[in-house]
Amino acid sequence: MALRFFNTYSREIEEVELRDPTARPVKMYTCGPTVYSRAHIGNFRAYIFEDLLQRHLELRDYKVHRVMNITDVEDKTIRGAREAGVPLQKFTEQFKDAFFVDAHTLRIKRADEYPAATDQRYIDRMIDMINALISKGLAYQADDKSVYFRINKFPDYGKLAHFDLTQLQSTGRVKHDEYDKEHIGDFALWKAWDEADGDVKWDSPWGPGRPGWHIECSAMSTALLGDQIDIHCGGVDNIFPHHEAEIAQSEGVTGKKFVRYWLHCAHLLVDGQKMAKSLGNFYTVPDVLAKGYTGRELRYALLRVHYRVPLNFTWQGMNEARESLARIDEWLARLRQLIGSVRRADRTPQRGMPTTDFEEALDDDLNISAALGFLFESIRETNRAMDQNEMDAASASAWLDWWQRINTVLDLEAETDVAIPHEVARLAEERENARHEKDWKRSDELRERISALGWGVRDTKAGPKLTRGTGSA
Ligand code: AMP
Ligand code: ZN
Repeated sequence: MALRFFNTYSREIEEVELRDPTARPVKMYTCGPTVYSRAHIGNFRAYIFEDLLQRHLELRDYKVHRVMNITDVEDKTIRGAREAGVPLQKFTEQFKDAFFVDAHTLRIKRADEYPAATDQRYIDRMIDMINALISKGLAYQADDKSVYFRINKFPDYGKLAHFDLTQLQSTGRVKHDEYDKEHIGDFALWKAWDEADGDVKWDSPWGPGRPGWHIECSAMSTALLGDQIDIHCGGVDNIFPHHEAEIAQSEGVTGKKFVRYWLHCAHLLVDGQKMAKSLGNFYTVPDVLAKGYTGRELRYALLRVHYRVPLNFTWQGMNEARESLARIDEWLARLRQLIGSVRRADRTPQRGMPTTDFEEALDDDLNISAALGFLFESIRETNRAMDQNEMDAASASAWLDWWQRINTVLDLEAETDVAIPHEVARLAEERENARHEKDWKRSDELRERISALGWGVRDTKAGPKLTRGTGSA
């Protein structure tokens, strides 16, 4: 079956055409975390959906070049840094670290690149893009010194969200600081510096200021993936205005179609409401681990429902995830035992050999619920065959091969060892360097950052040893 995805742009399931004669990688851009606090598990539902998408493409032999940005400057990060009384960089660093550790806990595959908005090379690109938009009449500087996108000059504005611009006028959502705009829907590309921004500012042709959130993604995506991207993802709350604005900016500059397939996941809910920082109804990954669940269980709980269906988070759901994984574990143990034994089946098995149903379900707009249905049906069938001594080692081995193939997508096998997250290892290495340079202050700071991530570092004769938990010196 051909690969099919629901494209938010057309609001239809489309047959996917991604393979190129030159077999270049699929270009995938996924909006990443805003690092003003620890990401919650709602955010991770979006990242797990994107992980599933990437892994399924890879199962189908596509190469994927994935970029996930880090939004480390916008209103909330600036406010947070000011309230904490620390420089922006210092404030966001802890949440960046935590994001990588949580993603590791949930077995999310690392993107190829994680560009950060405050990187000067992207700031320069944002400025260049804004300049290009101004020269095309698509942007203007208002009396408040900020630069805005002129949505009336971009006829396609609203096409992604299927939004009528006149509706935007009637909502009357005028923010007090946006009175200088020509149109209520015009969005900021460059925000002029004001006192509340403290020392967070960059020079620009329009005076000191900082970029708007939307232009950050347009600049980072096109810088790393080129003018045209194959797949762009996020949660449904990103559709408007964020992704709509990204289209307007990127296409406004390049004149080319920015994205071929827009994929958005439905929200993780709590008691029927979106899990959100602003509502205070959220859990972080450590909150869930503190209740005794594992990252693998949480991964399963967030993965098991089709990405376009809202998913209610409950502890009951976590227990169900635990039970489902236990069934998988027992099944695998049985298969392995059978393979290890010399016992032969009384009869040649006639039914229940592995099929391609699992991956075909995923071809169909990533229908994970159906795919897992096939997995558990297969577990039931093969358990029955094993109960009745109708399976030999060769068939068991075929099933195990099948599991190993589908597990490249699921990544749900029980852990034998606790792997050290990449970020923790990197910080430990930096600490080693600091120690070699006898920079004890830096070394202590790094120990604290490692410990904030739930790891301890112990210096032994054989070098530093990392252990789960805060450890001791
Ligand atoms: P943010 O850090 O707010 O920019 O969000 C990062 C990603 O998480 C975006 O793709 C959002 O659409 C997504 N997101 C935020 N809240 C939820 C939720 N409750 N369920 C699923 N995705 C979410
Ligand atoms: Zn984005």
